[in-house]
Amino acid sequence: MNINQSIIDRAEQLKAKLQEASYAYYVLDNPIMDDTIYDQLYRELQDLETQYPSLITSDSPTQRVGDKLDRQFNSVAHNIPLYSLENAFNFEELNNWQNRWQRQIENNPNFNYICELKIDGSAIALTYENGIFIRGLTRGDGVMGEDITHNLRTIRSIPLKLNMDNPPPILEVRGEAFFPLEEFNRINQEREKNQEDLFANPRNATAGTLRQLDPKIASERKLQFFAYNAYILPENNCFDTQEKALNFLQQIGFLVNPNYQVFADLNQVKQYLDIWEIDRKNLPYMTDGVVVKINQFSLQNELGFTQKFPRWAIAVKYPAEEMTTTVEKIIVNVGRTGAVTPLAIMKPVTLGGTIVQRATLHNVDRVRELDIRVGDTVIIRKAGEIIPEVVEVIKDLRPANSQPYQMPSHCPECDSILVRPDNEAVTRCVNSSCPAILRGSLIHWASRDAMDIRGLGEKVIISLLDYKLVKSIADLYKLQDFEIKDLERMGEKSAQKLITAIEDSKKQPFNRVLFGLGIRYVGAVNAQILTDSFQNIDNLIQAKKEDLERVYGIGEEIANSVVEWFTIVDNIKLINELKILKINFQSDNNSNKTDQKLTNKTFVLTGTLPTLKRNDAKKLIESAGGKVNSSISAKIDYVVVGEDAGSKLEKAQKLNLKIISESDLLDLLNNN
Ligand code: NAD
Repeated sequence: MNINQSIIDRAEQLKAKLQEASYAYYVLDNPIMDDTIYDQLYRELQDLETQYPSLITSDSPTQRVGDKLDRQFNSVAHNIPLYSLENAFNFEELNNWQNRWQRQIENNPNFNYICELKIDGSAIALTYENGIFIRGLTRGDGVMGEDITHNLRTIRSIPLKLNMDNPPPILEVRGEAFFPLEEFNRINQEREKNQEDLFANPRNATAGTLRQLDPKIASERKLQFFAYNAYILPENNCFDTQEKALNFLQQIGFLVNPNYQVFADLNQVKQYLDIWEIDRKNLPYMTDGVVVKINQFSLQNELGFTQKFPRWAIAVKYPAEEMTTTVEKIIVNVGRTGAVTPLAIMKPVTLGGTIVQRATLHNVDRVRELDIRVGDTVIIRKAGEIIPEVVEVIKDLRPANSQPYQMPSHCPECDSILVRPDNEAVTRCVNSSCPAILRGSLIHWASRDAMDIRGLGEKVIISLLDYKLVKSIADLYKLQDFEIKDLERMGEKSAQKLITAIEDSKKQPFNRVLFGLGIRYVGAVNAQILTDSFQNIDNLIQAKKEDLERVYGIGEEIANSVVEWFTIVDNIKLINELKILKINFQSDNNSNKTDQKLTNKTFVLTGTLPTLKRNDAKKLIESAGGKVNSSISAKIDYVVVGEDAGSKLEKAQKLNLKIISESDLLDLLNNN
């Protein structure tokens, strides 16, 4: 098959980068990238090599296990190869693995799966002769390992003599040496004190400690060992299942991780994966996935090994919080305040359960700092925000012909010159009639937490603007159904519905109206505070900076912004027009009484809420007489859930608690 030169270049770049990372990881014990990023780049290379087998070279990182053996130790051949594990990054890949191994077996065998936690340490092979520990090896390249017996002898959970009466001539035990988190932190604190480089993670600390020449160092650091394989050689036919082998290991004096479980099928395995994805965070050691193994040794033996993996086991890795992808375009977006945000448009990837295609580059300084270019491979992350951000550009994977990106000097929407006010990181379009600013204002006005006008989304707003049917927020309330029924995807019924929704929004409380106006720094919480304190729009218009600052929760920045907003003639004109149209600019006087409805109600907040900061939401609940707890229990009345809610949401679902969104909370506070 003909291969495009850019694919050959990409494969070469990936190999070089992965080799560099592997060396830093296995030899220097000092990784240069996160494991999940390594795994993704590795997978990309593997996919290219599958598609174009001529790209495979013997030095490709996909063709070998580990890295070169360290010459300072004796290399010894393993009794049985100690290979790596194949990875699955989601349930579908786990299913594919099952289909693959089942195709290889002739008869339908009786089998079950055993799931073990994947401990994040170093794989070790121990040899016992007549019950006495005689040798311990690292995994090395899977065929040969490095002799590190002197260090392994210092680990208390590795018995020097087996606890059994008639020990076999040769017993091979395999497992994972690792640092408990507490010990890892202690070592790093000590290194910090001694101004030594810190270990990047417990796995590297383990590898680094095991490869010390002087066993005194290992004995001072309290390594642990979980055993997970036992082979009685040469026949190895003493156990019929992995489960029995684990029991045996425990009986003869090894520490076995207690969290293994046997399951009949992959659906049950999935439940185990889901539970441990959350519960692993409470373990006193690091795990980076779950190892799913076929429990029956007869079946394991029938399946055997590939060049790198056993065919009877697979490591299911947890979803990554960072992903790599490539930049297809860089654009700038003009928001409703005129702020210009550069965005990377990328090849779509799944991150945190959603498909993402855009990532923010924040501002011009960040663009310059990253030196991001079209074609670049980038690492993106969701940092509590709905839109992910670009955290790093992998420059070694940059295509040869890439050009530096220039921020535009003029607004892409109205072509006026962009300005960057002193002391601000943000570049702005300051043309108040810029269509992007009006579009943004309308989208914000109609949004769920403001006037909540169902059916008035971004696409409809763009059509209304394109056909010049609205030129301001007030124009929305003058629309008639015959004017909009012919818009794209509208029709008579939807037009009627939309007009009704717009009309109904006049009933929204004053705090939502104020929030909807989009005054800088007046988010949902500040809007509530201001409407509670000033009761109606006229009081607010007349309020001086000092009056505003006297209100609890309102600082100088907010006060300035509010005063400034009301000095703009067009804004006052808009308010007068909206008043005539009967938009609600008056607080409900009973609201203080109804606020007490949250008395005796207990809330838990979890995840990132769309507009409220955690503390602000807490303040609002407390000011309405409610209580906010930090942990879930059956006594909780409401769980307010935002983006990326984790274990608390799951616990709440299990307890059947009432789960609500931020808008539901705001409605509760307004007693809607
Ligand atoms: P692996 O760590 O993904 O899986 C295999 C290992 O899992 C085994 O060798 C064993 O040590 C371990 N394991 C833990 N619990 C186990 C259990 N219960 N049963 C069986 N095995 C268990 O594979 P690997 O080949 O050791 O390393 C490859 C991984 O190393 C990559 O996926 C990557 O994450 C990491 N890596 C990272 C970099 C980097 O730059 N960050 C570079 C190279 C490799």
